[in-house]
Amino acid sequence: VVARLKSSGLFQTKGLIGGKWIDAYDGKTVEVYNPANGEVIASVACMGDRETKDAISSAYDAFSHWSKLTAADRSSRLYKWYNLLIEHEEELGQLITLEQGKPLKEAIGEVVYGASYIEYFAEEAKRVYGDILPSPMPDRRLFVLKQPVGVVGAITPWNFPLAMITRKAGPALACGCTIVIKPSELTPLTALAVAELALQAGIPPGVLNVVMGDAPKIGKALLESPQVRKLTFTGSTAVGKKLMAGAAETVKKVSLELGGNAPCIVFDDADLEVALEGSLAAKLRNSGQTCICTNRLLVQEGIYDRFINAYSNAVQSLKVGNGFSEGVDQGPLINEAAVEKVESLVHDAISQGAKVVVGGKRHNLGLTFYEPTIISDVKNEMLIARREIFGPVTPVIRFKTEEEAIQIANDTDSGLAAYLFTNNIQRLWRVSEALEYGLVGVNNHVSFSQVAPFGGVKQSGLGREGSKYGLDEYLEIKCICMGNM
Ligand code: ADP
Repeated sequence: VVARLKSSGLFQTKGLIGGKWIDAYDGKTVEVYNPANGEVIASVACMGDRETKDAISSAYDAFSHWSKLTAADRSSRLYKWYNLLIEHEEELGQLITLEQGKPLKEAIGEVVYGASYIEYFAEEAKRVYGDILPSPMPDRRLFVLKQPVGVVGAITPWNFPLAMITRKAGPALACGCTIVIKPSELTPLTALAVAELALQAGIPPGVLNVVMGDAPKIGKALLESPQVRKLTFTGSTAVGKKLMAGAAETVKKVSLELGGNAPCIVFDDADLEVALEGSLAAKLRNSGQTCICTNRLLVQEGIYDRFINAYSNAVQSLKVGNGFSEGVDQGPLINEAAVEKVESLVHDAISQGAKVVVGGKRHNLGLTFYEPTIISDVKNEMLIARREIFGPVTPVIRFKTEEEAIQIANDTDSGLAAYLFTNNIQRLWRVSEALEYGLVGVNNHVSFSQVAPFGGVKQSGLGREGSKYGLDEYLEIKCICMGNM
């Protein structure tokens, strides 16, 4: 696979600064591993603050030109980029599976999903409308302009190595912003391939830059620079809080997509088949390694036995293996630390009285593979119901009443995604409105898309990505007030 990818020109290992592929200034490199077998895939440039400062300067210089192009011009380049991403969906998918581990079919799905943000914002680029406001005085006129915020710093995680980048770069570039991207050190190769295609699409040098390596140093350089006017981050709540605090020094605009603790509530009056399909999908995507994955499955007592029985059968039939193998449903976890975290949460729950229904241990494939697992008799106070599991484990909580379900669901500091299954229309509205979450999937695992606003409340983050609302994150509002008319 690597040899084929190398011949495609998409296998880049250097950073991208001002349109040029650059080594770390001190020549340092860092290795990227295949999580399915622990093999080294590549050595990539390991950059720090000096490279980041240069990338910021490039982005700052490029801003004056890029922001002044017509929206139609920016749009047509974004379309070219979108088309190139789709043309290369197979290679990009392979790259994702190689460095991230998800099954190839899911990886190609991510390419299509990720590319859709570039297409959508190529369209929206042309619709950044201003306003004319009725003036409170007869000789005044009030105009509202929306202008690009400036240079954007984007820090992205490893679980969606492509989509988390396009979701930020799409709206940023559409508005006329330029960007410095820091992908996860675990999955830089996909980011670099996406950047190569941006160059091929005619995105000018300096408009999109990629630096990777020492995360704290790169983060610090982005935060300290007064030229970076916006920071957009997807990752853990702990790092997000640090970045938000750091951004205060230069009062940057901030968007944060942080951890979740998604409840998935199955009521007695749900359609069993619909609830089964939806709740499995909500849990198992990317082997449970997404911030919107179900973290707590709440099942009402009347449907409990039938539902858990069917859910267990489905989980037991999942095929675990290398993402490149035919028919695999669940790939490896990202690294050893991820497996250790899942293991310790499961052990903690069991030590407090939870019971293993299915799985409960490392998979016999070894390495970073963990068995798809269900544990019952979970209490919301247990660590497993309070931390983000980020693995293929479903903790199940049994409940009696709707009020109890809402209380348990909201008893968390997170508020990203929640799911509910019911055929009662009044309940559907009542519960949807009561859930303190930014995303609510009703009778569905929520096919999030470029058209829908994605984001959380409480400590799950700030701002929304995708949709018409996603543009505002990269725009400033300017009011022009004319007098003496
Ligand atoms: P995850 O648990 O999903 O890996 P992290 O928050 O650790 O979440 O990582 C998300 C992104 O944040 C990655 O690109 C990582 O390199 C980056 N990151 C981690 N620590 C810092 C930091 N101190 N400053 C800036 N970026 C950081």
